[in-house]
Amino acid sequence: MLRSALLAASRSPQVRTVVEKFPPTHAIVERFVAGELLDDAVTACDDLVATGRTVTLDHLGEDTKDAAQAAGTAEAYEHLLTALKDTGLAAGAEVSVKLSAVGQFLPVDGEKIALENARRICAAAADAGTTVTLDMEDHTTTDSTLSIARELRADYPWLGVVLQAYLRRTEEDCKEFAAEGSRVRLCKGAYKEPESVAFQGKREVDLAYVRALKVLMAGQGYPMVASHDPNMIKIAGQLAEWNGRKRDSFEYQMLYGIRPEEQLRLAAEGNTMRVYLPYGQEWYGYFMRRLAERPANLTFFLRAMATRG
Ligand SMILES: Cc1cc2nc3c(=O)[nH]c(=O)nc-3n(C[C@H](O)[C@H](O)[C@H](O)COP(=O)(O)OP(=O)(O)OC[C@H]3O[C@@H](n4cnc5c(N)ncnc54)[C@H](O)[C@@H]3O)c2cc1C
Repeated sequence: MLRSALLAASRSPQVRTVVEKFPPTHAIVERFVAGELLDDAVTACDDLVATGRTVTLDHLGEDTKDAAQAAGTAEAYEHLLTALKDTGLAAGAEVSVKLSAVGQFLPVDGEKIALENARRICAAAADAGTTVTLDMEDHTTTDSTLSIARELRADYPWLGVVLQAYLRRTEEDCKEFAAEGSRVRLCKGAYKEPESVAFQGKREVDLAYVRALKVLMAGQGYPMVASHDPNMIKIAGQLAEWNGRKRDSFEYQMLYGIRPEEQLRLAAEGNTMRVYLPYGQEWYGYFMRRLAERPANLTFFLRAMATRG
């Protein structure tokens, strides 16, 4: 119930205005977001790389209905990738992109514009010597996102895609995307989805995650295990071992600000541990999804609201 309400609120302009104007929100947002500026992102990225972690940077934004804004987001990624190249961080840092931020939902030619903007970002990443991963949004975008990914992979075979274990279709998608050289980030899924397309309970989603992980670990691709769940992390390690995978043939991924000690432990063991690092002004949707994932985050937020002033 609570999760559904928060996920619905994540798309409500009215709630957004209230939450964004509430002063203590910003202190809490800082836990999950590097800051609003490119410099904030580069500094946080540098700090993470210095501790043996790798990074994927997300210029926050989603659901753009404006072509100029979509092009502006592509440009922001180009600046980011130039900065990563110039600071020598590109070896340890790639970028994650939401297609809805670069035009996928535009009423006219949305998919085509998103493809072209994503292509600009891929070209900048190739120039910087790093990679791009396409985030996955709600299930209405899955076919479109995977089809754009297939097109981009013709020129940029290193392009990563995200698959969400809670979707009933994902085990089959994993079979297609477990091919050689294919980078696949497997996460549980963060959106409110109907039962017709997605498993609903934690146990069902966890079992689906393990089934999908089995396919990816047995395949020829490069699995990216995106989870904070101790059970999933343990099972991923075991599956990698059973499939004779070396540590450089898969990686772990977690979100900035969540389980940092575990991130450091996995990195110290010699694993690639990549941190998803968001930055920018459009933090609202991302922040609300983080609240929805964990009641303790919400309690913290509500306590701050109750004690304001
Ligand atoms: C690198 C990365 C990229 C992602 N990209 C996408 C994407 O493109 N599309 C998409 O739909 N989803 C994405 N997600 C989010 C993902 O789908 C889940 O919603 C999120 O990771 C929580 O699931 P979990 O696997 O950590 O397991 P859960 O069962 O939700 O959590 C397991 C444990 O992790 C900790 N934890 C989890 N979430 C939080 C939190 N918010 N705050 C504090 N502790 C927490 C808690 O200790 C919890 O008990 C991504 C996640 C990661 C790590």
